[in-house]
Amino acid sequence: MIGLMPVKLDYALPQKFALLETLYRVLEEEASRYPFVCEAGCADCCTVNLLATGAEARYFLDSLERPAREALWEKLLPYKGKRRLRPRVTPNEMAALLMSGKEPPADEGFVFEPCPFLKDNLCSIYERRAFICRTFFSLKKCHETKEAEAPPEFLSLSTVLTQLIEEIDLAGLYGNFLDLLLFFMERERASSPEEVIIPDELLSNREAPDFAIPPQHERYIRQFLARLYREPVGDKTFKELLDEVKEGAQVKEALSFLGEAL
Ligand code: SF4
Repeated sequence: MIGLMPVKLDYALPQKFALLETLYRVLEEEASRYPFVCEAGCADCCTVNLLATGAEARYFLDSLERPAREALWEKLLPYKGKRRLRPRVTPNEMAALLMSGKEPPADEGFVFEPCPFLKDNLCSIYERRAFICRTFFSLKKCHETKEAEAPPEFLSLSTVLTQLIEEIDLAGLYGNFLDLLLFFMERERASSPEEVIIPDELLSNREAPDFAIPPQHERYIRQFLARLYREPVGDKTFKELLDEVKEGAQVKEALSFLGEAL
């Protein structure tokens, strides 16, 4: 059984948005140190297979006025139920399984279909795009080599930050970005939002068992995290606010399939 963890969908959204913005900014600073070749107009990686947290979906929705939300609803409705990548476990569930020597189930449904937010090969939601879109970099032109190539330590950092982003949204959801947007918009439109059922393809976030850091990248990642954790977010540091948000989520162990599997 997946997704039975308690959820508090509207909990601490402004604080979560502030944490996300800080993490995105520090990641951008870090990425600027590498000779990545990604540039406006190259969009081979922009497909419908985007995985994200509910807080990231809400961060985007929060930027839209009512008419723009209506237009988005109409735009995304045809995507409802269509095949695309959907996760079987969250990043932190995957880390827990790997750390206990178990093989996590593979995500399913990857399709080569352009992201609906791609317009003339540019991202139309660039400022509010999800973390996964901000971390997909390459040292070589993907459309020439047919695959992206990133420094191994940067890939490890991306994995760790995916776990951290799940922690920011404890008591929230994880899934395909389009499924999350459709669910939250459906909920907004309902006369009784609490009666809108969370679809099976959306999973419950959980706390990181530990960060999955390969020994050879430990120094690099710990230095990055130390920098991030000290960043000011309002009158607190990133770490202080993160701990406060996690504490308030009051989520204990998941009642997900993980409890049966571990
Ligand atoms: S949201 Fe933007 S950056 Fe992300 S896949 Fe879609 S078009 Fe690309």
